[in-house]
Amino acid sequence: MMNKAASAALPSPPPRVSTPETLAAEIIERLTYSIGKDAKVAKPHDWMTATILVVRDRIIDRWMASTRETYETSGKRVYYLSLEFLIGRLTRDAVSNLGLLEEVRTALGSLGVDFDVIAALEPDAALGNGGLGRLAACFMESMATVGVPAYGYGIRYVHGLFRQQVSDGWQVELPETWLAHGNPWEFERRESAYEIGFGGIVDTVGDASSDTQRCIWRPQERVIATAYDTPVVGWRAKRVNTLRLWTAQPIDPILLDAFNAGDHIGALKESNKAEALARVLYPADGTPAGQELRLRQEYFFSSASLQDILRRHLQQYGDLRTLPDKVAIQLNDTHPAVSVAEMMRLLIDVHRMDFDQAWDITRKVFSYTNHTLLPEALESWPVPLFEKLLPRHMQLVYAINAKILRFARLEKKYDDEKIRSVSLIDEGGDRRVRMGNLAFLGSHSTNGVSALHTDLMKQTVFADLHGLYPDRINNKTNGITPRRWLMQCNPGLFSLLRETIGDAFMDDAERLKGLDSHTGDSEFRARFAAVKHANKVRLSNLVARRMGIKVDPSAMFDVQIKRIHEYKRQLLNIIETVALYDQIRSHPERDWVPRVKFFAGKAAPSYHNAKLIIKLANDVARVINNDPSVRGLLKIVFIPNYNVSLAEVMVPAADLSEQISTAGMEASGTGNMKMALNGALTIGTLDGANVEMQDCVGAENIVIFGMTTAEVAERRANGYVPREVIEGSRELSQALTAIASGVFSQNDEDRFADLTNGIYEHDWFMVAADFDAYARAQRSVDALWLDEEAWYSRTIRNTARMGWFSSDRTIRQYAKDIWKAGP
Ligand SMILES: *Cc1c(COP(=O)(O)O)cnc(C)c1O
Repeated sequence: MMNKAASAALPSPPPRVSTPETLAAEIIERLTYSIGKDAKVAKPHDWMTATILVVRDRIIDRWMASTRETYETSGKRVYYLSLEFLIGRLTRDAVSNLGLLEEVRTALGSLGVDFDVIAALEPDAALGNGGLGRLAACFMESMATVGVPAYGYGIRYVHGLFRQQVSDGWQVELPETWLAHGNPWEFERRESAYEIGFGGIVDTVGDASSDTQRCIWRPQERVIATAYDTPVVGWRAKRVNTLRLWTAQPIDPILLDAFNAGDHIGALKESNKAEALARVLYPADGTPAGQELRLRQEYFFSSASLQDILRRHLQQYGDLRTLPDKVAIQLNDTHPAVSVAEMMRLLIDVHRMDFDQAWDITRKVFSYTNHTLLPEALESWPVPLFEKLLPRHMQLVYAINAKILRFARLEKKYDDEKIRSVSLIDEGGDRRVRMGNLAFLGSHSTNGVSALHTDLMKQTVFADLHGLYPDRINNKTNGITPRRWLMQCNPGLFSLLRETIGDAFMDDAERLKGLDSHTGDSEFRARFAAVKHANKVRLSNLVARRMGIKVDPSAMFDVQIKRIHEYKRQLLNIIETVALYDQIRSHPERDWVPRVKFFAGKAAPSYHNAKLIIKLANDVARVINNDPSVRGLLKIVFIPNYNVSLAEVMVPAADLSEQISTAGMEASGTGNMKMALNGALTIGTLDGANVEMQDCVGAENIVIFGMTTAEVAERRANGYVPREVIEGSRELSQALTAIASGVFSQNDEDRFADLTNGIYEHDWFMVAADFDAYARAQRSVDALWLDEEAWYSRTIRNTARMGWFSSDRTIRQYAKDIWKAGP
């Protein structure tokens, strides 16, 4: 280590100059000296890497300054723990947040390279499944923008979410290999390495009667967690934060004794086992994987992150008692909930605190975001598995539980039933550790992600916990970053907005309201419509190129893009499409609005009905798209491999955004926000954030249909008989009959039986009950579309009034109410 005087004397590198000329010169230099390629033979991929390296240098200066500033001002640091980060590509985001988009474009142009071409070569980092992971990525960008010193912590999966291919209409999953060509955005931090244990036994040492007694966990297996850091640049490069992803390495890369004895496979056993930890992302969205490897992943990244946080705090402050003043840790869902027990273990066993003090600190430091209320989606682990893998944590869970249950019984006078519901252990059937209860009880704040979801949380799954701690549950409605989801994905709209109302809306998205007064301006409307049309042409070209399907960009683009899930009701949309197909053929004389129905989304590989829904969409598309009697009035396109990059093309091209989940089941949704912000009309139920979107954009600027949450519950309670509903709706029964009779499945009547019978027999997601209301709402959308002025006045008002859904607003609320951090 160098002494202070010597290090102060070390020269800093000269600040980087960012004119097109210097950028071009540096790109050539990197190409030559970092990549080892002559410009004459460099491949597009080499240009991409060289460009990223040059951009990265600009970020590093800001990165170091941000880190230094937090250190010097003793600022509180926020740690966002998430098993998923659905990042997408980084280059355009970083360049544009640095304010260097034009300079980099010009620099590359002078070298004969097209920025858009090389930006598209960057792999799409899909270290997440859907909304929850994308939220984490939007939050990282907003924390840097708003000026919150933050670290994201997660796992550096070698294989992110699978690549989806559609073969004969069926989903096929292929491994995704985003790291195949290296990742110029990340820095390996070999020095940040921690040991993580699993299994083994707990020894008690010392005298039970004195307070010197302590527990020592002696794990049977150990692996090393090492860090990879990616810088996250805020808007106008205000701050650069760190996304720290862990990878697992064996303590003994090779067992030489075994190798020398000829056991070449056995010699690598340790190595393979360690590396399995960070190999793949579990591809189920919303349902717990329930497998041992998953619990290992959760503990692995929780423990590494907490050890890192405590080390950093001790290094700067030397005393863990000040932890709550300097550290806030947000748990994104229950996946990192084992952190509560790990923090207790580290404070008690390693740092020798007593239980009560450790518990006090733990609760002050942690806060928890809940993302789902479905009882079957709440994570829990069998006690025997938990105990085998984490014996010391099991003891601590019991100790915490005893404390809580005493409080509930004695102070809150809870009866046996309520005691059972707040317990950390589910005693019904096989005994399980409830991760939701652990996260709730180990935190000072538990938040829902939309107003409706938070209300339901208090009334349903967490009602008895809410009774114990009535001040703990609060709402933080989700948001999206307007940099990626407006400025970068929709440059045409961005320029039009900037020209019309200036660019202050990029720092304060609520300034978009300034657009409201331009709704009546026919010239502005025409320009807004022209931007939408150009975006639709761009999507049409993608569909032609990738799928060989021709669509008409002047038709209404009706878009449903999200994970395929029964509660999201892609099936409702497809059945209504079949009904519309019938109507168009029966009434060719009517003025049908030309529509293209776009679908995209992945199904969990083990989710039978979701995969069947993909097949149905593709089968219906094949028949309708090839039926000349439809005269091109209706087309269906299922675009494979939905990810952030595809969303960036589809979102700006949407005229109509489908947000049609069964009321009470979508916690928030963020896809709904992206499309409305980009000037789409929403057709949706009163679910998740749709409720607040209606409040913001106004009831006349959104098409709401169907049952409310209360009506769904009432209908269920009163004995819902879907068969009666179906028989009472001609359109619905004809559509279901067509699907069940093999019209779309080459006369195979069984293919979709699991879907159609499900609707007749139980219809858990109330597709039949909402069908007529949905079909009527769709015809009212048609009527609006035919009146161009009415249509664009409404969609412009959507863009104008969606500013509140910026994730900057969400992050400011977290920072003020939960973290007490940031400016
Ligand atoms: C925004 C987004 C989601 C979330 O969509 P919802 O409609 O809210 O479910 C999922 N996947 C990707 C790639 C996204 O960009």
